[in-house]
Amino acid sequence: AAKRDKVPFTVYTHEDDVERRQQLRLAQDLPDAVINNQLLLNYQPIVRISDQQVIGVEALVRWMHPKQGLIFPDSFIPLAEGSGSIEALTEWVLEEGIRQGSRWLADGNRLSVSVNISALILHNPSFPDMVARKLENIGFPAELLKLEITESAIISDVSRATEIVNRLHEMGVCLSIDDFGTGYTSLAYLRKLPVDEIKIDKSFVMNMMHAADDEVIVRTLLDLAKSLGLSVVAEGVEDALIWRILEALDCDVAQGYFMSRPVDIDTFNAWLKVQPWK
Ligand code: C2E
Ligand code: CA
Ligand code: CA
Ligand code: CA
Repeated sequence: AAKRDKVPFTVYTHEDDVERRQQLRLAQDLPDAVINNQLLLNYQPIVRISDQQVIGVEALVRWMHPKQGLIFPDSFIPLAEGSGSIEALTEWVLEEGIRQGSRWLADGNRLSVSVNISALILHNPSFPDMVARKLENIGFPAELLKLEITESAIISDVSRATEIVNRLHEMGVCLSIDDFGTGYTSLAYLRKLPVDEIKIDKSFVMNMMHAADDEVIVRTLLDLAKSLGLSVVAEGVEDALIWRILEALDCDVAQGYFMSRPVDIDTFNAWLKVQPWK
């Protein structure tokens, strides 16, 4: 697709056809993927910078396709959104993530569980009730569930989304603005929503030590968040140097390959015991 964008007019090639047909087939396979247990979650730790404590995880979905093997979310979430499978997919991710969170809790690990919520879900008025039912059935505290919403997701239908987000907030669920800095949120608008946390997009964090502009952006976003009383997660913390810069900037929380890549549950639990990055 990136290649095509550079062409000033649309060119249909054989490869485009093949790609389109493949996408169509994937989209058709999606409803079965949920029913037939082909989805899985990877977990990536979220760590408090001040004391290096693991305080939560982000649950990231993958699809083990019977023919095509492991598929990453950027390749099928848009298809799920376009084919009406996103609701079932999100419900599965929530159920699985909350169940896992309650297992950690039973083991004495009070970890928050962050789940990515697609824009379309915020147009479904029954979504908050579904979340409430799951929390109650599984017995997981609402304040340990975080819903990550991208900036652009909220903007498409502000009033409806705000209503749904408000109900979730009243339930005690945490709301996090994902990929912060890449969208068009105005500051006043950010203040109107019951947001608890922002996640500074990894594109600003990853190269901070080489790009002075990026450091200025991160610093400014941190100031902004502080003055609005929001906590901040920096994504894309890939090495110790970035960690130390963020520490010096008084950033609250970090997530990234430096601590751990997103991994399957067994690998995560083994990592949690040893925490080899420390
Ligand atoms: P995201 O929410 O921004 O998730 C973070 C992505 O950055 C993940 O990619 C993760 O593997 C990657 N990442 C984490 N740490 C680092 C780092 O230090 N450096 C770099 N370069 N990358 C890092 P992943 O797992 O491929 O997910 C891609 C996107 O798919 C996510 O971006 C999220 O928007 C979406 N996604 C994942 N799971 C779900 C889901 O259950 N529902 C929905 N609607 N979207 C999902
Ligand atoms: Ca996210
Ligand atoms: Ca993100
Ligand atoms: Ca992203």
